[in-house]
Amino acid sequence: MNSIYDYLIVGSGLFGSTYAHFARKQGKRCLVIDKRSHLGGNLYCEDVEGIHVHKYGAHIFHTNSKRVWDFVNSLVEFNRYTNSPVANYQGKLYNLPFNMNTFYQMWGVHTPAEAQSKLEEQRAEAITKMKAEGVDVPRNLEEQALALIGKDIYERLIKGYTEKQWGRKCTELPAFIIKRLPVRLVFDNNYFNDSYQGIPVGGYNKLIEALLDGVETMTDVDFFACEHTYDNLSGVHHIKNSTFDVQCKQLIFTGKIDEYFNYSLGKLDYRTVRFEQETLEMPNYQGNAVVNYTEAVIPYTRIIEHKHFEYGTQDKTVITREYPADWKRGDEPYYPINDERNNAMFAKYQEEAATNDKVIFCGRLADYKYYDMHVVIERALNVVEEELRQ
Ligand code: FAD
Ligand code: UDP
Repeated sequence: MNSIYDYLIVGSGLFGSTYAHFARKQGKRCLVIDKRSHLGGNLYCEDVEGIHVHKYGAHIFHTNSKRVWDFVNSLVEFNRYTNSPVANYQGKLYNLPFNMNTFYQMWGVHTPAEAQSKLEEQRAEAITKMKAEGVDVPRNLEEQALALIGKDIYERLIKGYTEKQWGRKCTELPAFIIKRLPVRLVFDNNYFNDSYQGIPVGGYNKLIEALLDGVETMTDVDFFACEHTYDNLSGVHHIKNSTFDVQCKQLIFTGKIDEYFNYSLGKLDYRTVRFEQETLEMPNYQGNAVVNYTEAVIPYTRIIEHKHFEYGTQDKTVITREYPADWKRGDEPYYPINDERNNAMFAKYQEEAATNDKVIFCGRLADYKYYDMHVVIERALNVVEEELRQ
């Protein structure tokens, strides 16, 4: 194979696929490569017993943007799935996000006025204790949570979960992580406040297939295992390995930015998740797609029962336990750790990237940001519009 593409896109995740979709629509020739053996990045689902198993963690599409919602609905149909996770603390179940159901389960209060007064009593207790210690502004996540919601909810529903998720004590985590803790004085278990929400009918692979319809793709190709040269005179990238040999005018890179620069400015930190998947000989294990385990002694943060995302009626069910862990080379980098040290290092990589107009760095790994899916789509739309305008 030896041909000139307008764009060679490294990474077939939501960013790369959306970019390719729009570029192709404008008559551009794209090749999307991915080092994994499948397309779709972290949206990829595997079919097990007719159930679409979210292989890289549960994904729920939600957005406030009509533009994004209309766009994804023009490609695939979405179901009416509404995320309403349940928290299990020492065997007792609580609804999330924190709402009248939670307050009833926690304190037995029946009315918003009763709940409000209980919340205020709990907050006042925390604030008085902090003031007595000479603390005016919460110094860490624990103090922030106590001041916002009080000790009962913090100790039962936040502390254990957050410490497992981030691998650090809440007293060592920055307060800003939970600057906003939604508290609702209505009986509403919908986790998100967004106007639009759902799961693609038939699973996320349908969305990726629709995005990449008519786009050339190659899997099992690691960009870093290829030889890459750039010819300044012709303005063309040349990328080849033992099985392919291509040229392109512009490179879109959606992998890890520190890896692209050979870790020359240091390694960015991540949290990863180990997924333990099980098929059970029963139709319904937990009655909900998402159950969080908020106590510290249970090593996983949550159990996902995939069939409930699509109202599955199969005889069997598939569950996944999620165990967060520190990232090391070879693991999937899931959550960027946007603390001061990492953000400063990323800013230096960004400066380096800005001097290279032959490559566009984008997506959650190249931008080192925790992006929800709707944000990635908006980002891809904006970047491709800007690029095609030139
Ligand atoms: P990715 O999906 O990571 O795609 C990058 C692709 O690049 C990958 O396929 C990778 O294999 C490929 N690649 C990397 N390096 C190379 C290389 N050297 N050569 C070739 N290919 C390479 N968002 C929501 O809106 N709702 C949710 O409920 C939600 N849940 C999430 C749960 C988890 C556990 C995680 C981690 C994320 C979740 N997200 C959710 C966020 C969502 O996954 C991202 O917004 C989206 O996947 C980002 O797409 P991307 O294309 O930027 O990155
Ligand atoms: N969180 C918590 N208890 C829960 C669920 C979430 O304390 O039962 C906190 C925790 O600090 C977590 C943050 O809320 O890191 C965001 O969690 P969410 O599940 O909303 O987002 P995700 O982890 O999918 O980004």
